[in-house]
Amino acid sequence: MSPSTEHGRPEPEPTTLPANRDGRPVSDRGDTVCVIGAGASGLTAVKNLTEHGFGVDCYERETGVGGGWNWRHDRSPVYASTHLISSRPFTQFPDFPMPDSWPDYPHHSQLLSYFERYADHFDLRRHIWFGTEVVRVEPVDGDRWDVTTRSTGGYGPERTSRYAAVLVANGHNWSPKLPRYEGLEEFRGEVMHASSYKDPAQLRGKRVLVVGAGNTGCDLAVEAAQQASRCWHSTRRGYWYAPKYVLGRPADQVNDALLALRVPLRLRQWLYHCTLRLTVGDLTRFGLPKPDHRVYETHPIANSQLVYYVGHGEITPVPELARFHPGGVTLTDGREIDPELVVFATGYLPRFEFLDPGVLGDADGSGRPRLWLHAFPPGHPTLAVVGLLQPDSGLFTLAHWQSVLFARSLRLRREQPQRAAAFASRAAAGAGERYAGKVKDSSRHWFEVGHVDYLRAVQRALDELEGK
Ligand SMILES: Cc1cc2nc3c(=O)[nH]c(=O)nc-3n(C[C@H](O)[C@H](O)[C@H](O)COP(=O)(O)OP(=O)(O)OC[C@H]3O[C@@H](n4cnc5c(N)ncnc54)[C@H](O)[C@@H]3O)c2cc1C
Repeated sequence: MSPSTEHGRPEPEPTTLPANRDGRPVSDRGDTVCVIGAGASGLTAVKNLTEHGFGVDCYERETGVGGGWNWRHDRSPVYASTHLISSRPFTQFPDFPMPDSWPDYPHHSQLLSYFERYADHFDLRRHIWFGTEVVRVEPVDGDRWDVTTRSTGGYGPERTSRYAAVLVANGHNWSPKLPRYEGLEEFRGEVMHASSYKDPAQLRGKRVLVVGAGNTGCDLAVEAAQQASRCWHSTRRGYWYAPKYVLGRPADQVNDALLALRVPLRLRQWLYHCTLRLTVGDLTRFGLPKPDHRVYETHPIANSQLVYYVGHGEITPVPELARFHPGGVTLTDGREIDPELVVFATGYLPRFEFLDPGVLGDADGSGRPRLWLHAFPPGHPTLAVVGLLQPDSGLFTLAHWQSVLFARSLRLRREQPQRAAAFASRAAAGAGERYAGKVKDSSRHWFEVGHVDYLRAVQRALDELEGK
């Protein structure tokens, strides 16, 4: 391994452990925990594990912290105008507030500076091997792990180190999910996934079709409304577009107040419908399809501008695409449109190429891990995945508590192995449990959680660990 850390930190020395199955020497890292990724989830994991007394080696394939929020990273999904969708107090780590002077919905560059300050404040960089990619993670000796790394891009030799535990924080917003359409290969226009969209200049003056009604799809439709000569927005169904502000407060804060008061779902749905009726009114009046589901049954879309631009005729809502042909697209209602650029804002899929899918309970090969609390694989008490969540609020608090739970369960294994074993069997029983109400069954909602229900479940798990 080249001097790949930012600080030229020396490499772990190989010890006398027997060679792994490829005949390579294995460095024994003793009780050290390996963390994969130095985005929001990896950083909070490094902090919480070290605070619980563990040695940590964190491997990060990029050259800086911040994960997806670091626009310099080649897999970063952020574009020039990306702002938080969840509001500042509901996004920040519980022990490291963002500055009060920042807006309710900070810009992605502010998020990057937040992670850099977090890493500096808790002195995390000395644990991180930058420019180092994890290529394999294999269980050995029952509950230990051989982690094989190499320099990002595949230069230099591979190196294997043996760890007491592994925490995977590799993110799930970087591997594009692309739909297939008949005739797409023959289409003469430009086609891209939203992950390649960075700058409004890419849309300027073009006839643009944006496909997908997630938060990114709606943001890009709004950008196209301002930049493109024409914008069509294709959605599979009608959605509820929530304004970013309700009663003068960020919408997630109002929702959280109702959740804290334990207002029942039906009543929250009714209040939400009333809010929409009083603000934008009947969405079908704008030519938008009528939602086929109640609010809170799909991931919330927070966008105050989409309906505005539809109302100004700058966005034309259209149904799902039927097929492509060389000069354009046929829609499912039979209409023909002739975009020059098609942007698929069709989301991302999780990828764990370095692990055998069976380890994460992905028995049917669908790519969907089956984990307790979306974090703990049955049968592997020294492995956790942090950040594999799609909350109705910010992620970082949830990732913080997931990593605290993992750190405490590892500590219990050291101090009270019998109780730790009971906790491990809890993980096996709870794999696949859901922490969201009734949501549409699609890969978009695999990791959907209501943040209040989820945090309560983590609290219960922490109480169980501590014998309360
Ligand atoms: C447009 C957009 C807007 C969003 N808005 C919000 C929001 O408002 N609020 C919110 O809470 N969330 C939001 N998110 C979700 C976002 O994913 C999370 O905020 C956060 O970035 C997740 O952090 P993470 O550390 O889990 O993953 P990432 O940020 O993806 O970090 C994963 C890290 O792991 C590294 N890595 C991956 N594989 C390897 C490997 N094999 N070896 C070594 N390193 C590896 C990557 O390089 C990366 O640095 C948004 C996402 C998008 C795409």
